[in-house]
Amino acid sequence: MQRIEGEASQEVKNSHEAVDNSSAVSRTRVANQAQDNVQPFGASRYSDFLSNVSNFKIIESTLREGEQFANAFFDTETKIRIAKALDNFGVDCIELTSPAASEQSRKDCEAICKLGLRCKVITHIRCHMDDARIAVETGVDGVDVVMGTSKFLREYSHGKDMTYITKAAVEVISFVKSKGIEIRFSTEDSFRSDLVDLLSIYQVVDKVGVNRVGIADTVGVANPRQVYDLVRTLRGVVGCDIECHFHNDTGCAIANAYTALEAGATHIDTSVLGIGERNGIPSLGGFIARMYAANREYVMSKYNLKALRDVEDLVADAVQVQIPFNNPVTGYCAFTHKAGIHAKAILAEPKTYEIITPEDFGMNRYVHIGSRLTGWNAVKSRSKQLGLELTDDQVKAATNRIKVMADIKDQTMEDVDAVLHVFHRAIKNGQDVGHDSTFNRLFQQHIEARGTDAIAEEEAEAQAAK
Ligand SMILES: [Zn+2]
Repeated sequence: MQRIEGEASQEVKNSHEAVDNSSAVSRTRVANQAQDNVQPFGASRYSDFLSNVSNFKIIESTLREGEQFANAFFDTETKIRIAKALDNFGVDCIELTSPAASEQSRKDCEAICKLGLRCKVITHIRCHMDDARIAVETGVDGVDVVMGTSKFLREYSHGKDMTYITKAAVEVISFVKSKGIEIRFSTEDSFRSDLVDLLSIYQVVDKVGVNRVGIADTVGVANPRQVYDLVRTLRGVVGCDIECHFHNDTGCAIANAYTALEAGATHIDTSVLGIGERNGIPSLGGFIARMYAANREYVMSKYNLKALRDVEDLVADAVQVQIPFNNPVTGYCAFTHKAGIHAKAILAEPKTYEIITPEDFGMNRYVHIGSRLTGWNAVKSRSKQLGLELTDDQVKAATNRIKVMADIKDQTMEDVDAVLHVFHRAIKNGQDVGHDSTFNRLFQQHIEARGTDAIAEEEAEAQAAK
């Protein structure tokens, strides 16, 4: 009896699955049709009235958060160079270390305010009248105020309760606004703060006219879904702009930033190469890559993408680090294609394996053809670049040679070129390059003669014949 019931319920379950599957198939079909009508890089096939993915601002914090990076020490000249480079890239605001931090920090803040940059210059201070008084005298366009609201910070850092925090916030906001300066109020460690406390204080500061409220994942604990929930809830509670600051302790910073924009955030904090406290915040380049993939036209119209590499080089040099090998866009292998099947498709249509067009960032793609994974299409493309006439069968034979050699070690482009030249010359002279001994002898001769007139002449001839 029990068995029959089991079978019956299984049947019911199966029929439900069938219904679910058929509706899922039709949903997919509709979605695919919709997808065909939009540009392939589109962020989402569903429009979302909350989303600011195509309308966001960057608050570039290399000169504030970045100064908290373990290796960072920026003298005045370096700060000015970085500020100018960021302005040239097109960030919306740059954020500077509090002028209350030290006498030199105050002087540097004033110096950067006097540069006449196109972007807004903002400084970051504690929620305290003493700091606010110093900040408004520097000439900044805006002040970012921060106050810890988590249980940890209230117990172990400033020891103040929510009533005190709210009162201090209102006092500082009113004062800064009275000076005609933009102000943001952010909580610290927002994701480990009490939600009711958060929403209450944001509502109060919104009412007294703050320009932005800020959410900060100070400890890097949040995941994208939590970010979406919190920002979306906050979006329903305040009318002002929403800025988000995410730490990258668990590798979620850029994903969190993107999700925050989807949920209605307006401003995202970044730093060049992501430098900051511990392992930092969203990198400017990584965040830009993410946003480019969502809306290329918007990002290209707003930011000077070709300046990215220079900004990164400048900051990497200033803090004595290398650009990471896997850095989005500028990592040395960001546009390197290796596997034969990838190389073939890339040569025919780069979009097959590239969501980012390297040329938009002033970068080049590189097809690595000297590996054991290489394919004859890639080798053929190289022989054409060299102006060497080879049939497909001859290119395939050359490719096999390259693979045999690459099984011992990866071959450089120079080695690949040598194989192609040997094949080309041998075939022209009627030599049977299919024999190992013949190939090896000719290859050795070529390597020894490399750089000599005979080879140079042949290469010039091939180029001229192109
Ligand atoms: Zn931070």
